[in-house]
Order: sequence, then structure tokens, then C-alpha cells
Amino acid sequence: MATILFGKPIQEKMKERLVERVKALSFAASLAIIQIGNLSDSNTYVRQKKLLGEKIGVSVVHHALPKEVKIEEIKMLIQSLNNDKSVHGVILQLPLPPSLDSSELLDTISPRKDADALTSYHVKRLLEGNKKTLLPATARGVLALLDAYNISVSGKRVVVVGRSALVGKPIALALLNRDATVTICHSKTTNLDDITKTADIVIVAIGKPRFFTRNFFREGQVVVDVGINEAPGSKLEEEIGGRMLVGDVYFEEVKGVVSAISPTPGGVGPMTVASLFENLLDLIEANQA
Ligand code: NAP
Repeated sequence: MATILFGKPIQEKMKERLVERVKALSFAASLAIIQIGNLSDSNTYVRQKKLLGEKIGVSVVHHALPKEVKIEEIKMLIQSLNNDKSVHGVILQLPLPPSLDSSELLDTISPRKDADALTSYHVKRLLEGNKKTLLPATARGVLALLDAYNISVSGKRVVVVGRSALVGKPIALALLNRDATVTICHSKTTNLDDITKTADIVIVAIGKPRFFTRNFFREGQVVVDVGINEAPGSKLEEEIGGRMLVGDVYFEEVKGVVSAISPTPGGVGPMTVASLFENLLDLIEANQA
């Protein structure tokens, strides 16, 4: 029987620690989320961040802008949040509408308030192998999940499937900085199932519901499923916030093959939200020092 890498109980422990850190501050911590447009995925993620913020005592201020908003207007909002001493973190909910240049906007965020660690400043540090740098929340969440279950990555062969700048690449770099031997796969990779089988740990983030069937795995592997997908009409669905969600892995099938596997929902997702707030508190504490 595979060990199920549940994120929820770990998130509970992270929340307790976050509450202590928030209480220790002499001011009210605040995170600003800028959302452009009205994607249902983004609405769900923003809602989860607001909920967790409320639970740990961080005020989360949601700036919802229409998808037609001009880039200059968004930059002005970011700059005003950068200059606002009562705001400690600023995040841009991704993806943005295709007409907007996400790197240009991300780089308008002050690195001192970059709670998602996606500005060039933090990305460069990650690339350089700086082990103390802030990690993008999903990468931090994946590492925290592995740590919580005492799964060491040092010296292990890890295959990451997905190479987005938001998810796949930061996870791969974070693992490399922890001395894993990392292979990155993507949509043009051939013989993907042969490559995933070579790994000790397989981390998938492609956004395709139940793409990874048992044929991609072998006994003894650890599987971390980052994917969160809507899959209406399936028996395995679980409802979260009114939406039916499944991972990139065919969980029910693969759990019979491997030695450990994270579920979706309830695996990496809760870790990611808590990791965002850990980043925020890290920034606040570093800026105070
Ligand atoms: P994305 O920007 O669409 O990137 C998907 C990546 O998967 C791309 O690199 C793509 O390759 C690769 N890919 C697509 N189809 C593939 C295939 N058949 N075989 C191999 N690789 C394939 O998505 P993302 O933002 O990285 O998100 C990925 C998933 O993670 C989504 O389900 C998203 O909802 C989820 N997510 C979860 C969390 C969490 O906290 N759990 C956080 C963020 C995102 P190419 O580069 O070649 O196109």
C-alpha cells in the first residue's frame, strides 16, 4: 500500500506556526493580491488565499481589475502598493490575459514585497543556487510536503514533468539546489513513460486530468502530483468550492503501483497556499532585520 502524502494535516501544522509568527509582529500583516480578469481557476486560488489569510490573522486585500485594464494602470497600482508601508506583500495572480506581459509586470513588484518570489531578483538567486532564497510558493510547497514525510531528495533521481516558469522550472531548480539529479520533461519529450520510470521521485505539473496512468510508473517510486484540473462527470471527483477537481495522475490506479503518492485535491494545493504565507512572513521578518 502506498503512503498517501496528504497536505492538509501538514498545512494545519504550518498554520499553527504562521499564527505564532503573525502574533509576534507589532503591526497588522497585509498581503495585496492583484487579479486581472475573472478566470474561474484564479477566483478559486484567490479565495483560498483569502481564507487562509483570515485564519492566520493576515489581512488579504484583493484588487480585482477588468481584463481590458491598461498595463500602465496595473503598474501604477503595483507602485503604490510598493510604497504603501501598511502592505507587506504584493502578488499578481497568474495567468494574466495574453495581451499583458507578465515579466514586465512582475518586475514592477519590489523584491522586498515579492511574496511569490517571481521577480527577476528572486529567480536569479534561485538560478544561482542560493539555498536561502525565497522559493515560488508551489516549489516551496512541494519541498515542504516531501520534508514532512521524510523523503530526502539529495542524490535522488527526480523527473519533473512540466517546464512552466511558474511551476515546473522553479520546482526543478529548487530540487537541484537540494542536490537532486533532475530531468525536466515537457510536451515534446519522447518516450515520457520510459523516462518517468527511471526516477526515484516523479513530480508532475502539466495540467492534464489523469494523464499519468499506471504505465508511467514502477514499484518503489514517490509521485507528487501538482496538477489541479477540472474533470466533470467522473466518479473520482471531489468537490472543492463548487468545482470538481482531479490531478494529473490517475490517483486510484497509480496508488496501487508506487510507494508514495500525493492526492489531488488535498496534496500539494494546501501546501502551496501555506507556503505563500511563509514567504510573506519571511519577507516581513527579513525587512525588519
Ligand atoms: P502550464 O503553464 O500550462 O504548463 C504546462 C507544462 O506541462 C508545459 O511545460 C507543457 O510543456 C507541459 N505539458 C503539457 N502537456 C504535456 C504532455 N502531454 N506531456 C508532457 N508535458 C506536457 O501549466 P502550469 O501553470 O505549470 O500548471 C501545471 C498544473 O499545475 C496545472 O494543473 C495547474 O492548475 C497546477 N498548479 C497547481 C498548483 C498547486 O498548488 N498544486 C499551483 C500552480 C499550478 P510545453 O512547455 O512543451 O508546452
